[in-house]
Parts: sequence; structure tokens; C-alpha cells
Amino acid sequence: MKKLADSSIVEIEERSEGIVLPVSVDTVCPYCLKQVNFSIKWPNYIDTEVAYARSRCSGCGENPKFMLFDLPMRDGNDDEIGDLYISPAPDIKDVNKDISRIEEFSVGLKKAYSSAINVFNIGEWTATTVLCRRLLEGIMKKLLPDEEQNKSLAKQLEILPKYVELQKPIILLGDAIRKGGNLGAHFDLEKEPDKLTATLMLELLDDLIDYLFILPQRINELRQQIEKMPNSEQADSHLA
Ligand SMILES: [Zn+2]
Repeated sequence: MKKLADSSIVEIEERSEGIVLPVSVDTVCPYCLKQVNFSIKWPNYIDTEVAYARSRCSGCGENPKFMLFDLPMRDGNDDEIGDLYISPAPDIKDVNKDISRIEEFSVGLKKAYSSAINVFNIGEWTATTVLCRRLLEGIMKKLLPDEEQNKSLAKQLEILPKYVELQKPIILLGDAIRKGGNLGAHFDLEKEPDKLTATLMLELLDDLIDYLFILPQRINELRQQIEKMPNSEQADSHLA
């Protein structure tokens, strides 16, 4: 089950009881993963707690289920619709919302990132790998000075530590968690840890574990996957 954004709703229907229902929805079909329009016919009797209907995909003919929870009644200016879900949840990758907040990323880089996600979601594996590489080139361009721009990508990765303090974020991260822990360990009424501090600490700890243990494992998995493929070494020397 996946919640659909309000922006996917193309058309609504207002029932005489004041109930508002989404009747035309643009979204990815969970069966064929195509972006299609679903026309939804809701039952005559609507329970305002939860309503459900099926709609046929024009791409593959399957009938995913649509569910609507907590339907608000339309009264005056309130034109909100309840929470709309599709089931089963399409097995697609969502755009990482944090990327849009990175100020150093140009519009072009952000676009390249969402293009990579889009082509992945429609099963274009070659295009995905090409766009991932292009994104990496864009990131290097951002991090390295002009005089290093003409070097090969392999060379740029090699010289990256000359320009970016790669260890710094992880040292600061560990130190922030240590300091947060001191707040709890040393009793001080003035500085008692609150929910936000505890939440941030837990999240940062997750990031630290990711960085130190999970990330190396995932990198290794990708390397092994590439090495298993025939001619992988030739491809590397051909396009450094
Ligand atoms: Zn379909």
C-alpha cells in the first residue's frame, strides 16, 4: 500500500452528502510500472472512515485497489480530500527529498538525479547506469577546481581527497553523538535531553553505522556484481 500525493489527483466528484472523491488519478501502475490514468468508480454507499474501489490499468489490464481514509466533508473552503492509497505498492524508487535541499547542487544536477530515478523506474537499466555516471561527473565538477576539470573521472576520484576533507564529516558526527550522550550521563537540570536531541542522536547513530559498516558492504556487493559480468575489465580501461 502506498500513499498517493494530492498532485496525482486529476479530477474529483462531489457527492450530494458532501463527500469529495478522487475519480481520476495519474499514477504508476503497481503491476506494469507504467504511468497511467486510473478512472475510479467508488461505490454508491461511502463509509467516511474508509472507502475502497478497484480500477483497471489501461496498460496491462490488472486491477489495483484504491483506498481512501478519513474522508473530510466539503464545507465551504475546505476542498481537501482524504488520504488516498494504492495497493499493492508499486516497487519503484522514490526521489530522495533531501537532494532538493542541497544548495550546492545546481538545477542541472537535481534534474540528472531525478532522470536517473525515472529511467530506473521504467526498467531502463543501461540508461540508469549512464545517468549515475553522469551524476558522478557532475558532482566531481562541483567539488574540484577549474584546473582539474579536464582530467578523467578515475583521476578526479583519485585526487578528490586533496580538495575535500573526506574524514571530517564522520569525525564531527561521532563527536556530536558523544556530546549528546554526555547530556544524559551528567545530571544537569539546565541541560536535560529532550525528544528532538534524542531523535537527532538516534538518526545520526544510524548514519554512523551506515557509513562504517553498511556502506562498505554495499560497495563490495556492487564491485562483486560488476566483476561477475564478462568483459568488465575491458569496459573499465575503455572508459576511465
Ligand atoms: Zn498496469
